[in-house]
Amino acid sequence: MAKTRILAGGIAQESHSFNPVPTDRSRFSIRTGRDAVETARGTNSVLGGIVDAAEEAGAEVVVPTIFRAQSGGPVKDAVFAEMRDQMCDAARRGDFDAVVLPLHGGMLTPSLEDPEGALMTALRAIVGPDLPMTAGFDLHAHVTPEILARCDLLAGYHTNPHGDQGPTGRRAVRAALDMLQGRLRPALAAVHLPMLTLGNDRTDEEPLRSLHALARAAVEAGAAYDVSIFNAQQFLDVRGLGQWVLAYGNGAAPDALALELAQALWDERHALIGTYPPLDESLDRAARGTERPLILGDQGDRVAGGSPGDGTYVLRALLARDDLPPSAVPIADAAAVQACLRAGLGATVTLTVGGRYSTASPPVTVTGEIVSCGASAEVTYAGPADAGTRIGLGGYAVLRVGRVHVVLTEHPYSYLDPGYFRAMGVDPAAMGIVITRSGYHFTLNYAAIGDCVTVDTPGMTSYRVQDLPFTVARPFFPLDDLDHRPRLHVRGSGVP
Ligand SMILES: [Zn+2]
Repeated sequence: MAKTRILAGGIAQESHSFNPVPTDRSRFSIRTGRDAVETARGTNSVLGGIVDAAEEAGAEVVVPTIFRAQSGGPVKDAVFAEMRDQMCDAARRGDFDAVVLPLHGGMLTPSLEDPEGALMTALRAIVGPDLPMTAGFDLHAHVTPEILARCDLLAGYHTNPHGDQGPTGRRAVRAALDMLQGRLRPALAAVHLPMLTLGNDRTDEEPLRSLHALARAAVEAGAAYDVSIFNAQQFLDVRGLGQWVLAYGNGAAPDALALELAQALWDERHALIGTYPPLDESLDRAARGTERPLILGDQGDRVAGGSPGDGTYVLRALLARDDLPPSAVPIADAAAVQACLRAGLGATVTLTVGGRYSTASPPVTVTGEIVSCGASAEVTYAGPADAGTRIGLGGYAVLRVGRVHVVLTEHPYSYLDPGYFRAMGVDPAAMGIVITRSGYHFTLNYAAIGDCVTVDTPGMTSYRVQDLPFTVARPFFPLDDLDHRPRLHVRGSGVP
């Protein structure tokens, strides 16, 4: 018998509706063919899980292309079209038995609210209704009726912060192989909830911990084949934004389980909204002196959440005080970097930086000395998360303004590892205050050098969603007071 072949690939990026900076092709890492398979093998990524699970089962994975970028503004239509065409060309060759897609879910293009659904629709039109097609998505995916109609089984991460990317890919492969071998006939019970989770949504804490435990117990007991609870990316102004509970049964849909989980999620909607301490509380603490640096997550300008990374709210606060220890604060500003590279190392310059795209934070004019600069740099992650990962940076310059080190970069970054600062000549362990552009993933890799606190700041990724210009996505909780009763989604129906 010929070896089972699985077609895998696609695009993974999380978009922010209100970030005006489009994500262009240069922001993507693109891998194709054997290179894509070999670099994914053994890694804790969705594609890695797909490759490992398939190969363990004696199957082969074919990857026409995989596009990956960090969060940001909507992806240019031409980038999506290039990926889609490559996937469709491969699908037309027809030399495979199943399709398994490693996607993020929650991407936008200027013309598409649901590019993942559009990709699945295009592939379905080629492979027909009967070929198994499954997918592995991020827990923060925006799920749509189109995706549910095209995809036989959609598996989402079970953890936030995310640690089970590989196992999610394995679940998607397992379902496809079980279908191929006639062991599985997926039957979906799905419930949509018009609500957002905002800040109290770790899966290792209540209330989500108990919901996931209930789902896991149902799967272990054989009451469901696979269950996912999606907490949508909060900054998508699209129809049907909200939570989804997906429970797949074998032959019969586990309706009661999906409704029980969805009702519990709805009942906990107030508890799923968290609050963060104000910035001043941490600055006061730093002023009193701390043993280790304070590592602050700038909640309002999280590049990890799709923000432009040029917010100046924290920079202003640092410059306004003279009682603070040395600090490092990143600002993405290509023009400022170019000006510094022209002036050269050691020069003193006056520049207006940041605030070009970020809301609630105008540009700031500073005078300082260029203490480090370069046209490129390479970050090596210290870990533990992604230890050893190497990432190339574009142009950068570090401007010392009194005790504040303004880390200027051509492109925005999340600063998930101290290696970013080190790559640009700043030792974060020698600072009293270090700012990152992440909400909680940064805590994993900075715990070794400092005390991590996420602070409440205004901006595009603040959970003060009332400050954002939502129109299409409304009504949803908490912006709207809804009298809602969870009910089962009927497959084939439109927007919930
Ligand atoms: Zn996520």
